[in-house]
Amino acid sequence: MRFVLLLGLLVASGARAETLALRGATMGTTYHIKFVAEPGSIDAARLQADVEKVLAEIDRQMSTYRPDSELIRFNRAPAGEWFAVSAATAKVVAAAQAISKKTDGAMDVTVGPLVRLWHFGPPTGDDNKFVPPTDKAIAAARKRVGYQNLEVRMKPPALRKKIDDIEVDLSSIAPGYAIDRLARLMVKRGLKNFMVELGGEVRAAGRRQDGQPWRIAVERPSAGERELQSSVALDNASIATAGDYRKFFEHQGRRFSHIIDPATGRPVEHSLASVTVVADTCMAADGWDTPLLVLGPERGYECAKKHNVAAMFIWRDGKKYDVRETPAWRARVNQRQHAQ
Ligand code: ADP
Ligand code: MG
Repeated sequence: MRFVLLLGLLVASGARAETLALRGATMGTTYHIKFVAEPGSIDAARLQADVEKVLAEIDRQMSTYRPDSELIRFNRAPAGEWFAVSAATAKVVAAAQAISKKTDGAMDVTVGPLVRLWHFGPPTGDDNKFVPPTDKAIAAARKRVGYQNLEVRMKPPALRKKIDDIEVDLSSIAPGYAIDRLARLMVKRGLKNFMVELGGEVRAAGRRQDGQPWRIAVERPSAGERELQSSVALDNASIATAGDYRKFFEHQGRRFSHIIDPATGRPVEHSLASVTVVADTCMAADGWDTPLLVLGPERGYECAKKHNVAAMFIWRDGKKYDVRETPAWRARVNQRQHAQ
């Protein structure tokens, strides 16, 4: 018994292990997977093919970029009737709707018409015209937005619109779900020590080859350059960040983020620069980061605290940045500050 345990420890300590990496493109972004395995124990090419298969399936279900995806077909469907979707799509919509209720609608997957109006989302052909829309156009788009106008059921999985013209855009949460699916695949292949990154969101399990936890850098928000703020040890957990500093456009000195406040129909414009969330699943982390950014440094912080979400808020204060962490963040996150 003792001997078996010792052998197990030797393998875990990396004496006979190697770290392998897979990378590729999906959902308009890239993915990157690292895993620790005994040499020869994993067929990396086959694993990559399986990864691509999972991602292609999610793309067929939830993409807003491909005209034949399940979501795009639902978006074209009329109101009033249940539209059958995959269990995966229903699950992600249900998770999003639950967060919408807890955030007073700051999370809203029906925000698509506004995202398009503000020139984010699928290319429309006139993407160089970064001119803010008129109040009239915003008001018209807002009539087509509202998570209360969307229903979801699991048995059998289906979506229903209460009014015509409602659209679903899962960009704020689907990447996190995709990461969870890839993590499940890794576990199914017998892997215990791995890290999956997709579009900047990460889920990690087990340890690195050197026995240390996977550490994820959290950047200091700053448009031109990438500066390190701190790093977070991830022990069987996920991390996601929503920020207004990388995807935005400027018009007459004002900065417009790609995250829309459904309450105003406009991109968020407060001093909050980014929100990072740590959760068990990456779907939860990715689902929460967006509405917390919408709610801003005070309301977002209070909402995260109320729902026990581990979140770190970074906001601008003149030229410097201030940081605020919820009690759940401090309790669960092992964070190391780096020189700035
Ligand atoms: P990113 O990692 O791209 O910064 P987020 O998880 O913050 O992503 O999601 C941003 C995307 O979600 C936007 O590009 C848009 O398609 C969509 N979106 C924008 N505002 C909202 C909102 N209030 N609720 C839900 N989705 C939103
Ligand atoms: Mg998100």
